[in-house]
Amino acid sequence: MKKTFDFLIAGSGFGGSILAMCLAQSGYEVCMVERGSHPRFAVGESSTPIADMILRDLSEQYDLPFLKEISRYGEWQKHHPKMVCGLKRGFSYYPHSPGKLFASDLKHKNELLVAASTDDDNSDTNWLRSDVDSFLIQQVKRHGIENFEMTEITEAAREGSLWHVLLESKENGNGFKQRCNARWIIDATGSAAFSGKFFRTRSSASAFHTNSSAIYSHFEGAGRWFNYLKKNGFHTDDYPYNPDHSALHHLIEEGWIWMLRFNNDLLSAGIVLDNNNLNGKSIHDPESIWNQIISKYPSLKQLFANAEQANVPGKLIQSGRLQRRLDSLYGVGWVALNHTAGFVDPLHSTGIAHTLSGVEKLAGLFSASRNDGAIYRKLEKLEHIFFQELELIDLMVSSCYLTNTRFELFTAAVMLYFAASVTYEKNRLKGDIPDAFLCANQPELIFTIKRFQEEFSRMNGIGEYSESAVNHLIRDIKQAIEPFNDAGLMEPARNNMYHHTAITL
Ligand SMILES: Cc1cc2nc3c(=O)[nH]c(=O)nc-3n(C[C@H](O)[C@H](O)[C@H](O)COP(=O)(O)OP(=O)(O)OC[C@H]3O[C@@H](n4cnc5c(N)ncnc54)[C@H](O)[C@@H]3O)c2cc1C
Repeated sequence: MKKTFDFLIAGSGFGGSILAMCLAQSGYEVCMVERGSHPRFAVGESSTPIADMILRDLSEQYDLPFLKEISRYGEWQKHHPKMVCGLKRGFSYYPHSPGKLFASDLKHKNELLVAASTDDDNSDTNWLRSDVDSFLIQQVKRHGIENFEMTEITEAAREGSLWHVLLESKENGNGFKQRCNARWIIDATGSAAFSGKFFRTRSSASAFHTNSSAIYSHFEGAGRWFNYLKKNGFHTDDYPYNPDHSALHHLIEEGWIWMLRFNNDLLSAGIVLDNNNLNGKSIHDPESIWNQIISKYPSLKQLFANAEQANVPGKLIQSGRLQRRLDSLYGVGWVALNHTAGFVDPLHSTGIAHTLSGVEKLAGLFSASRNDGAIYRKLEKLEHIFFQELELIDLMVSSCYLTNTRFELFTAAVMLYFAASVTYEKNRLKGDIPDAFLCANQPELIFTIKRFQEEFSRMNGIGEYSESAVNHLIRDIKQAIEPFNDAGLMEPARNNMYHHTAITL
């Protein structure tokens, strides 16, 4: 092969694959290069209404009907019943105290359930990424896009308007070296290493308030939280949905635990550690941290009593600090996709939606123009907005970490995210696609959330959580989200059970 492509995309997660197909449908020649091979384990599994809206629009715009089919639980089951996903009706939160069984009351003071869909058919989904990403790679092949797995780009030199690239395959017994050319390289590798090597970018975490890391795996045989609650006499009759069919968050002293269930009963679970709050406690190997933390919370210990790590990935994976940001999103002849250019934290499940929003913007930009001057001008704007998006997500996530040991305050902090996402969804539904993910370029939104994050930080710093200070802040947040709040968020009469925050799609 000595071929010239318009785009060489490094990394075939769902982000790289969907972007490849949008570009191919816009008339470009595209080549994908993946270091691993499908199916492979990947984390980042809980989708949201914004992600689903973007999938539907990409489906229409680029004539990719299967994207619409995976944008709602009902259609997914109808068209792709063998591709594993889980039902995700909303976001659920439960705080736990060390050494004590989970406790709440009839008014759900220690429970928060926020529906993000009106019914199962229209619901979001948890993606079993190994299935979804390999399904998408099949579609990539069907669209005639050149696709290499077990292959890496080992040399990339820019001359004039072209990259001269060396591809090296590592496939057993079938290795090869091939040269090709590309006008653009898109970095969809989901980490900073590739851009650092070829485009001299630097990655840093210094701009973030959030400081977290994760330990995670897939489990078989883990108990169901809803069964636990019912068995132990908790009042669940007014629940908007079964919490095992949601993104389930258990708040703990050390941070929080996610639980995402798939239809085949596999459970994705991970502990996210708030490193700002670990007070220099030393971190050991993942197995001992996992066992130590789960055993500390008796109700969670019961859930995991019969759980075993699934064959894939077959171990606990421990991340370093999750927060990272490249110093640039683009350069001459290259662009980084969102999850490569930066990431904050899994809290609020922003990852899939943010990645898709990046796909939408890049596909839109390149399909609208072939004029380099216009493209670079738009990329400059995209980069500015991308950094605003990361800043907003960081402020919202950090607000939750700062309040996670005071559940009523945490509940108020979470509402800042729901207010921003509902605002984005409503605009989008009107046909007015916001320039920024979560409307992050609205100065008053950033200003408001920054103000609260600073106040949470101040209170946390001095440990001042008096009843009156907490109530005052909750009132303040309620007032601040009033313009975005059609869903009755923070109404005491709702008892933390929100059946209808979802906009009708
Ligand atoms: C701990 C954790 C939990 C998360 N939880 C959620 C969640 O619940 N909900 C949510 O929405 N998001 C979540 N995310 C974010 C989510 O993982 C990302 O948004 C998503 O994976 C981005 O997809 P992608 O296709 O851009 O990149 P990836 O999924 O990272 O795919 C990148 C691909 O590039 C390949 N690659 C890497 N290096 C090279 C190379 N040099 N050459 C060629 N190929 C290469 C990799 O093998 C991989 O296949 C989470 C992230 C983390 C870290």
